[in-house]
Amino acid sequence: MVPDALVTVLHFARTRWALDFRDRAKLEAWQAKRLARFMRVVLPSAPYYRNIRATGLADLPTMDKAAMMADFADRNTRGVRAAEAFDIGLKAEATRNFAPMLGDLTVGLSSGTSGNRGVFLVSRAERLRWAGILLGRALPGHLLKRLLSPWMPPLRIAFFLRANSNLYTTLNSRRIDFGFHDLLGGVEPALSQLNIQQPDVLVGPPSLLHALAAKARAGQLTIAPSHVISVAEVLEDADREAVRAAFHVDTHQIYQATEGFLGYTCEHGTLHLNESFVHIEPDWLDVAHTRFQPIVTDFSRETQLIVRYRLNDVLRVRDTRCPCGRAERAIAAVEGRADEVLWLPARADGRAVAIYPDHFRRAMLFTGPSVREFELVQTGMQFNVGLLTEGSQDEAAARVSAELDTLWHCLGVVPPTLRFTDWQAPSPGVKRRRVRLQYPPEGLTCTF
Ligand SMILES: [Zn+2]
Repeated sequence: MVPDALVTVLHFARTRWALDFRDRAKLEAWQAKRLARFMRVVLPSAPYYRNIRATGLADLPTMDKAAMMADFADRNTRGVRAAEAFDIGLKAEATRNFAPMLGDLTVGLSSGTSGNRGVFLVSRAERLRWAGILLGRALPGHLLKRLLSPWMPPLRIAFFLRANSNLYTTLNSRRIDFGFHDLLGGVEPALSQLNIQQPDVLVGPPSLLHALAAKARAGQLTIAPSHVISVAEVLEDADREAVRAAFHVDTHQIYQATEGFLGYTCEHGTLHLNESFVHIEPDWLDVAHTRFQPIVTDFSRETQLIVRYRLNDVLRVRDTRCPCGRAERAIAAVEGRADEVLWLPARADGRAVAIYPDHFRRAMLFTGPSVREFELVQTGMQFNVGLLTEGSQDEAAARVSAELDTLWHCLGVVPPTLRFTDWQAPSPGVKRRRVRLQYPPEGLTCTF
């Protein structure tokens, strides 16, 4: 058998140098070739797809998490049943021992509210390929040199995650010292370990990176990472600034979901979709084509099939070309999930107008530094605003009301009633979500 590290290095080199498309037509030709092979060779191995006659991707049905979980056994190529996979995944979560596997398959649980949990399977070959692609896309030049120089100390990576998985420990090797930190433990227990490990690369959700930056500024954390990567949550400007002030580096992003490794930031800090490995159809949310929900087909995976999978995320496209010249689509922001879009009736004709999380983030920026944290939950025509403020909450609430009034005016919508409350910090390991739709105003048809 070929050694694991060598397989990873081969994928790494291919990702870094061979699959570096500058010409959109060439990228699309490569995708078409890989998709044709995927449909001919891989799809028929899953019972669900065996009898569907399709000449192109567009002939295949779309899927979402519910559909995937409903026909789990038929949508993977190994006949693994959902109950079997869940059993192993839940045991690993409960014991915080992430070693158990199903044969050569790694089992992971995807976050989600209970009842909406997903489970995913990754084979050994896919795991090694994932590690190679991730390093190939995420490592800057100076760390790449370090990784490839056997006489230099190994690359030290500190990784904060809600749950570990064999997927991530795949990265551990003689050249990489991989430290996993359990997000459920919060920041405090990690500080002494980080001070000992002295990571070169710090990876975690932006709310956690922000908290670590604050600890560094307070002198409790004495690390100097040369590369910081944000995962799993929306990266906000305030997080970026906190990291820069504490560690003097820019924050890069990896856009990764259970459904695949979907995007990465280039050397200019622009988020590009990982289109050399994943086909992403935009389902446009507006006529001007500024925002879309991605429909993902991962033609690099062969165990659990992700075929025209509709992600719940809202992506905003970048309107100018990235100076790096990459042909992969540039994204201005991952704005959040579809249930983070709020709706109000238009003043003119009462039709539903979508208000994106980014609108609120921008409005809240203008309220000044006294608003330290905020959360917005829509219940019909009432918006519940949780605030953590410095100084008087009443003054801050007045400023927030004024900024939101400006926003309603700009968007031409009927203003909702605002109800102010104290902001509640999410428990450790829970994703930060600023904006949430509980239910829209009665009688409003809310479609994109
Ligand atoms: Zn770029």
